[in-house]
Parts: sequence; C-alpha cells; structure tokens
Amino acid sequence: MTKSADFSLSRPYPLARVERFDFETEVAIVGFGTAGSCAAIEAATAGAKVMLFEVTSGSGGAAALSGGELYVGGGGGSLQQRTAGFEDRTEDFYQYLLMAGGPNADEAKVRLYADNALEHLDWVIAQGVPFKNSYVAERVMEPLTDDCLVWTGSEEAWPFAQAARPAPRGHTVQQEGWGAGKLLMDTLAKRVKTLDVDVRFDARALALIADDNGHVQGLVVRIDGQPRFVRARNGVVLCAGGFIMNREMVKRHAPLLLRADNPIGTVDDGTGVRLGMSVGGAAINMSEGFATVPWYPPGSLVKGIFVNERGQRFINEDCYHGRVTQFILDQPGNHIWLLQDHETYAPGLLHENARIEIGAAADSWEEIERELKLPEGMLTATVAVYNRHAARGEDPLFHKAKKWLKPLDKPPFVALDCRIDHAQYTTFTLGGLDTLPTGEVLTESRDPIPGLYAAGRTACGLPRWGKGYSSGMSIADSTFFGRQAGRRAARARR
Ligand SMILES: Cc1cc2nc3c(=O)[nH]c(=O)nc-3n(C[C@H](O)[C@H](O)[C@H](O)COP(=O)(O)OP(=O)(O)OC[C@H]3O[C@@H](n4cnc5c(N)ncnc54)[C@H](O)[C@@H]3O)c2cc1C
Repeated sequence: MTKSADFSLSRPYPLARVERFDFETEVAIVGFGTAGSCAAIEAATAGAKVMLFEVTSGSGGAAALSGGELYVGGGGGSLQQRTAGFEDRTEDFYQYLLMAGGPNADEAKVRLYADNALEHLDWVIAQGVPFKNSYVAERVMEPLTDDCLVWTGSEEAWPFAQAARPAPRGHTVQQEGWGAGKLLMDTLAKRVKTLDVDVRFDARALALIADDNGHVQGLVVRIDGQPRFVRARNGVVLCAGGFIMNREMVKRHAPLLLRADNPIGTVDDGTGVRLGMSVGGAAINMSEGFATVPWYPPGSLVKGIFVNERGQRFINEDCYHGRVTQFILDQPGNHIWLLQDHETYAPGLLHENARIEIGAAADSWEEIERELKLPEGMLTATVAVYNRHAARGEDPLFHKAKKWLKPLDKPPFVALDCRIDHAQYTTFTLGGLDTLPTGEVLTESRDPIPGLYAAGRTACGLPRWGKGYSSGMSIADSTFFGRQAGRRAARARR
C-alpha cells in the first residue's frame, strides 16, 4: 500500500518498487500549456503513443493568459515584416537573440531558432493559429486591435541596435483586444484533440520513476486522489511551467524578483524544475526573471526620463519596458520617478492598473525636487544635463536614440511615482533545467539523463536574462523547443 508521503518532487520513485503500472505509453508529457501541447502534437505526429497529464481541469497554462505574441524573425523576414518594409536577416536576428540571452546565452539554441523561426511560424499557422498581415508602428505592449507585427524588444535601442540591424519581431495572434494567448492555446488544444493523445486532466505529477542507473522510466501522477504509475517507454517530457508562484523557491534562487510584488502565471510552482533536479538535472540561471511595470504606452512617455532616489538617471529609456524595469529593480531604495513635461506627458494606458500615480506636479524642476524631498540640486542637475544634450540630439550618458530625445523644458512638469513597493511590478521566472536544443535534460556535467526531456519555463531556454527579454520570446521558445522535445522523445525508443 503506497501513501502520498512515498512520493517526492525531490526524490525519484525506484522502478523496483513499482508493483504494477496503471498506464503504459511511449511519451508522457507533464503540463498542457504551450510547451506541452506542442510536444504532444509533434510526438503524436511522429507516431508515438502519447499521454499528457495536466494538473488543472483544462488546457492553457500561463499562455492562455498571455498576450499571444511570438518573437519571430530572420530568413529575410516574415510575410508581415516584409510587407511592412523590414528585411530581417538571419544574422541580425541571431545576434539580437544572442545578446538578449545575456552572459550565459545558449548559442546552440539561439542558432537553431534563428535558422528555423520562419518555418516555426508557418508550423504554428498550420495548426490553425491566425496572424493578420499588418503592422503597428507605435510603441505598444500588445496591439489593442487584431493587428500582428509590433516592436516588442530593445531592437532599436543602445546597445542592441549597435550589434544587430533592428526589425520589429513580435507577431501577435489575430484577435481583437488584449489576451490573444487564449486563442493560441485553444487552437493548439483543439489540434491535440484531433491526434491520438490520451489527455488526463486533474492529474498532478508527483514524482519521476527511475531505475538503478538513474534512467527515467516513467512517473507517478495523482488522479482521483490516487497515485497512478505511468510507464513511459521513450521518456517523460516536463512542461510544467516555471516557479514564480513558489515563493520559497523564488526566495532561495531569485530574491531580487521578490521586489516585484505581482507574480504572473498559473500553477508555476516549480514542480517541473524540482522533478528534473530529483534525478540529477542541473538548474541554471535560476536568479533570472522577466519583470515589468507597464509605464508605456503612449510612446510619448518614452521621451521622459527615469530617476532614482538620488535624482539620477540609470538607463536609456527607449529600451523595452522589461529591460528598463530590471534596471529599476537594481536601484537602491524604493523611490523611482518618471519625469515628463507638458509636451511628453499623457496618462499611461495601464497606469491606473499598475498604480503609477502623479507624485509631484509644478512649474519648475526646482519645485518638483523640493516636493519629492530630493537632495538639493540633484534632480535639477540631472534634468539640466539631459536637456542640454537632448537639445543637440545627444545622450552621451545612456545613448538614448535621437528620435526619443527632447529637452524636458515645457511646464508644467510632472514626476510619475513608480515606487517599487507601491506600483504593480509583474514578474515570472526564466531559470530552469539545463537542456540540449533537443530538450534532453542535462546533469551538472552536461550529460543527458536518459528518458528525461524538458521545455518551456521548466527549462532554461532562449529567454534567460531579464535585461534582454523581449515580449514573445517565452512563447516562441516554449512552442519551438516543446516541438523539439516531443519529436526527440518520440524517436527515443528504448
Ligand atoms: C499575463 C501574461 C502575459 C504574457 N504574455 C506573453 C506574450 O505575449 N508572449 C510571450 O512570449 N510570453 C508571454 N507570457 C509568458 C508565457 O505565456 C509563458 O512564459 C509561457 O506560456 C510558458 O509556457 P510553458 O509551457 O512553460 O508553461 P504553461 O503554459 O504555464 O504550461 C504549464 C502547464 O503545466 C501544468 N502543471 C504545472 N504543474 C503540474 C503538475 N505537477 N502536474 C501536471 N501539470 C502541471 C500547468 O497547470 C500548466 O497548464 C505571458 C505571461 C502572462 C502570465
């Protein structure tokens, strides 16, 4: 008689102790989000017997809450990029992705994705996901319309623009308004249904099953309150999302993210990462995460400047909102202000939701400085230096691009209060299991663990550096590398 206490996320269940398997399959997938659905489609299409276990009562995961943006480029450009007049060479796309991956970028994954992203977009479209052939030139977070192509990264900003020719690469699923990720996930789930995939909802993965050699042979899932033993002849694919909802794990691995008070996702309790670690999988880049406070649109706000509690600038404000937010989180203290003048200020579309309020308003920067109780002369000096150079179309300190430079000299002036412990900073994790581009989970010495694969936020994929993250990278990564893992597991007959 087995008890719940017999199963642990941090210890594999010994194969020798399994008396009887309740299910036999070739590929067992944990999680019915973006990575899991794409892994299932590929594995089933390749002819493998597939079971998919999902802890909630429906498909979707974080992706179903998402903006439905996919980061795609290279190959001369997608239909949408070319129609909008952008040629996107693979080498530029590759360089941008490499830079966006940060100091520990995975060159092999970047190469594979850069070379195949256009084919991947075609594959997503072939599953039934619609994308309009249209472009939104303004700075937005997601299109409010059913339009497709948007700027979703720091492509045009220093230092990225110096390394790679910029192009917009956020491809948004065609749906009126925000939240197109629901349509993406519903479409992928519909496709899974047309295939011979045995889907079990309300099924929580409890432990991996491993033999004496440490090879993964299956998993234990809880269904109807009972542990069920699943034999996976080819392997188990972990697609259970990240760990942002597991506050203990965040505290241990990514304490800086605790400064952002609004974790986003669904389950994301670290199950996938912990299961992988239980059989020797290495978890890498665990301190990294995406974080943002939605300070634009409208784009005119990008012409303002951010200052910290010392009244000093710290970033070129024309970067992607997530990169700016990472630099905000690096600042000492909680006080962060976004300074605007009469010509640049407009209420931000999401400022109310994000609790970004007007902290001070006055006819001179001296008054603003006093109202904010900043050390005398600090903020005024910052604005004076910025204005002097902006008037010449220059930003020698942070290299903000010319098109966003304008002296902040038209009163009245405002300081928007973006306090870290008051405004809403959203976040999810980017660290996870080290994997090969095929999805094979690696040990600390980078040896593949037989029978174990991972993709999506359970793995550490393309997006792995908060300061380089661009919208669309997580869904691009989880769909593309979910496919690689499903395909590899289907072939891995043992
Ligand atoms: C509001 C919001 C907007 C976003 N917008 C974008 C965007 O536009 N573009 C972009 O690239 N990214 C975006 N993201 C991030 C992106 O959606 C996710 O990072 C990505 O979808 C993760 O995919 P995944 O397959 O790893 O995880 P998920 O899609 O979350 O799937 C994981 C699945 O595993 C299941 N699961 C967890 N534990 C278990 C268990 N023990 N047993 C069985 N099942 C389990 C979960 O229930 C879930 O269904 C957004 C996220 C949010 C929350």
